[in-house]
Amino acid sequence: MSFHSGFVCILGRPNAGKSTLLNALVGEKLAIISPKPQTTRNRILGIINVPKVKSREAGQIVLIDTPGVHQSGSSLGRKMMSEIREALEGCELILLIVDAKKKWDREDGFVLDLAKKAGTPIFLLLNKIDLLGDKSKLLPLIAQFQTLHDFKETVPISALKKKGLDELLSCVLKALPNGPRYFPEDQITDQPVRFMAAELIREHVLMQTHEEVPHAVSVLIEQFEESQRLTRIAAVIFCERDGQKAILLGKGGQMLKKIGTDARLDIEKMVGTKVFLELFVKIKAGWRDSRTFVEELDWRRQLQQIGGMPDPES
Ligand code: GDP
Ligand code: MG
Repeated sequence: MSFHSGFVCILGRPNAGKSTLLNALVGEKLAIISPKPQTTRNRILGIINVPKVKSREAGQIVLIDTPGVHQSGSSLGRKMMSEIREALEGCELILLIVDAKKKWDREDGFVLDLAKKAGTPIFLLLNKIDLLGDKSKLLPLIAQFQTLHDFKETVPISALKKKGLDELLSCVLKALPNGPRYFPEDQITDQPVRFMAAELIREHVLMQTHEEVPHAVSVLIEQFEESQRLTRIAAVIFCERDGQKAILLGKGGQMLKKIGTDARLDIEKMVGTKVFLELFVKIKAGWRDSRTFVEELDWRRQLQQIGGMPDPES
């Protein structure tokens, strides 16, 4: 029996639906989602084990979700682009995902060029087809995209409504070579739990705040202690200015309390124990331009620094 496997990079502009697709295909919430651009800052691995069915061989797809491709001069922006390049390196297939409702423009051309440079076969995914009222628009749209590049496949999907995903999995598996099972069958990601907790906190900050605040916020876990019944977490929400701190705290601390309660409930679902969550807000002026701080936020870098040891919490 043949077994197909490989690394598959999800690439696209901010808000195209990359993280929604990762979560939908893996069936678990591995990446946080928001309607705001630049929600994803690190590359995120999601592992899918596909069983054999009549028309399809078995296999393992290692998906990599990436930050949205954009041009920014800050250290954070550069770090996000380097996360994308690392994801593209050594992948066997690129899933270029576009918002089917949006007109193709120069920014899309930039993403396509990046994908082409990788020299890897590219699938075009037309996402958000649930928003296309008139389905007869789909075929001309596909034809139009085919003039841009000889995509190996063009697959219309709705990541949100989970439409077209089975067809997508079959096409992806068919395009992957015979290969090993890279990860054990029960593993769905390589992210440490404590990093996922930090992301869930950041997701609630994104939900509750607007304008520049979401972009100016990062979250670091300072304490993460698991016991059978209780997980104790202390986390710092970093922002860049006094005004942002005031927004994050809210009147009488109400905002921070709401973020804390909502995040705690989500983290409890993830870890399966009660959670005691303490949140602090600190100002770190201009952190997005600090290469050292941006690297500090990268859990892969953190693991390297403690000698490549697996995270005890993961
Ligand atoms: P990313 O920046 O590419 O990772 O995009 P996200 O996955 O964070 O999604 C951005 C926004 O698009 C969120 O509000 C999602 O709910 C929404 N979205 C993603 N996929 C779909 C889809 O298939 N249909 C619709 N209607 N919305 C979607
Ligand atoms: Mg994302």
